[in-house]
Amino acid sequence: MLVYTSQYVKKNMKTKLGVEFEIDFAHTLRGHPKCGKPHGHTSRIIVEVEGDVKNGDSYEDNMVIEFDAMKKTCWETIQELDHRNLNELFDFPTSENIAAWIFEKLKDKIPVSSIKFFEGTNKYCEITKN
Ligand SMILES: [Zn+2]
Repeated sequence: MLVYTSQYVKKNMKTKLGVEFEIDFAHTLRGHPKCGKPHGHTSRIIVEVEGDVKNGDSYEDNMVIEFDAMKKTCWETIQELDHRNLNELFDFPTSENIAAWIFEKLKDKIPVSSIKFFEGTNKYCEITKN
């Protein structure tokens, strides 16, 4: 007997999925006393999507999005930042601007609810859907 079926997915639940990525990049923040010198970071990026899970008979109806499809779609965008000097892309490559760029590029492709962009290990910026 099945102990967990789609009947347990209630209408008042919010379902989120997340996928993590890692990139290395260089940047320089013009005018900043410390970050005005060229330097690099390894950044973890967490993309979250949100959606409804239908109570259907297929696996697709029991998911918000398929993980592999989500990973592929996100990486197509995120890889543009990997091993790159981000001053080639942004006037001011701050975590805020980089996370917002990722959000903008992904929002029409997948149901993004948030982008968390970690600059190094203990600092992050989160952009969330309004
Ligand atoms: Zn930096």
